[in-house]
Amino acid sequence: MRKVIVIGSGISGLSISRMLAEDNEVEILERDELHGGLIKCKRIDGNLFHLVGGHVFNSRNQAVLDWFWKHFDRQNEFIKANRNAKILMGDAVIGYPIENYLYQLPEQQAIIVLNELLDKLSSGVRDVGDYANFKDFLIGNFGEELYNIYFGPYNTKIWNTDLSKVPLEWLEGKLPMPKLREVILSNVVRQEETTMVHSTFYYPCKNGSQFIVDRLAEGLSINKSYDVQSIEYLDEYKLSVNNGDKIVDSIVYCGDVRKLHNIIKINDSALQKALIDISNLVSNGTSNILCETDADDISWLYLPEERFKAHRIIYTGNFSDSNNGGTARKTCVVEFSGKQNQDDMIKELALLPGNLVPLAFNYEPNSYIIQGEETREKILLLKKLLKPYRIFLLGRFAEWEYYNMDKCIEAAMDLKRLNF
Ligand SMILES: Cc1cc2nc3c(=O)[nH]c(=O)nc-3n(C[C@H](O)[C@H](O)[C@H](O)COP(=O)(O)OP(=O)(O)OC[C@H]3O[C@@H](n4cnc5c(N)ncnc54)[C@H](O)[C@@H]3O)c2cc1C
Repeated sequence: MRKVIVIGSGISGLSISRMLAEDNEVEILERDELHGGLIKCKRIDGNLFHLVGGHVFNSRNQAVLDWFWKHFDRQNEFIKANRNAKILMGDAVIGYPIENYLYQLPEQQAIIVLNELLDKLSSGVRDVGDYANFKDFLIGNFGEELYNIYFGPYNTKIWNTDLSKVPLEWLEGKLPMPKLREVILSNVVRQEETTMVHSTFYYPCKNGSQFIVDRLAEGLSINKSYDVQSIEYLDEYKLSVNNGDKIVDSIVYCGDVRKLHNIIKINDSALQKALIDISNLVSNGTSNILCETDADDISWLYLPEERFKAHRIIYTGNFSDSNNGGTARKTCVVEFSGKQNQDDMIKELALLPGNLVPLAFNYEPNSYIIQGEETREKILLLKKLLKPYRIFLLGRFAEWEYYNMDKCIEAAMDLKRLNF
């Protein structure tokens, strides 16, 4: 059996390890003392805290769904829920996606937006490829007014970057692609939107995404609190981790690709150049507060306005009753982009709906990746240069792709099929 080291025990590392363990000897090395990466959760006095986001699962890829449901009992271990997302604008709560609920905007605003959309309909819809960047795309598709009141401020908050510098390929498959005729119809006929990936989603009955992590980790060899600091290439196609502590045939790296230039000690100038070339990619962190909240039936509340630093509230207490163990009220997570001061965040809670009471805080320095014009090419080149050494990149931060959990699983399937 070939020996494989998987670096990182997030959803990517756990998934590829399960796939490879069928015919390889696999060991996972995890720097943290807990497994799970971004999707791990903690209990705070009985309440479930998603330390980052409020992870829910779904996929459009049948192979991913088949693989996932091989590990879980969908009927008894998961809840299927409808997405009930809303947008707070002024004092009004507007439906999501906003373009389907224009009739809920103040009348004058709705008229401006609708006129812009009708102009676009009559001038013909442009292909995604015709737009130079994300900002152009949003204005081109939705008009100036909707960009100014919603798409611009919301996306700027999340990405904390100039949207005109964000290339479109990066968001492939993630872009809101309104069919203008349908948008106008849905505002008249007022049908619910059902085609978005997360218009319905699955959520574990108990323990949120920690349940997913724990199940996928079962039976795997995970070496925790193990920080991989060096990878060397030895003769006869062997790799050494941390100065000979592990000698293996292949390595799957699921950590942050920007750190690799300090880790890979291989004397190969093209490879070293490619590693340096991607070492200055930019990412954003998120600050989260677990809160008690008044009960309602919302799943996500988006906060586009500049008067709030937070960009959304995730009502994790509505995803499963078992998330609310320690309080008679419901729980939710308020998410801020970047590192925020705790006192400022607490002050802001008073402005938000739901009579929020803070229970716990978390700051994750690395959550939203920002891709530049040439990022994909650079990562592809790096993968090509690493392959002869049998070092592979997998996951959101290793491949620098805007992956959700299902995309991490899909990428793991592709990696196995093509290289193992
Ligand atoms: C705010 C937010 C909300 C999200 N919501 C959803 C959602 O609802 N649904 C969904 O499907 N997806 C969601 N996602 C995406 C999802 O979180 C990611 O796709 C997924 O968690 C990435 O997993 P990963 O294994 O690739 O990376 P990670 O989870 O980051 O795992 C990498 C692991 O590698 C370890 N590591 C790194 N370097 C080393 C080293 N040198 N030595 C040892 N170990 C190392 C790290 O400690 C970490 O545990 C969300 C993401 C964010 C940021």
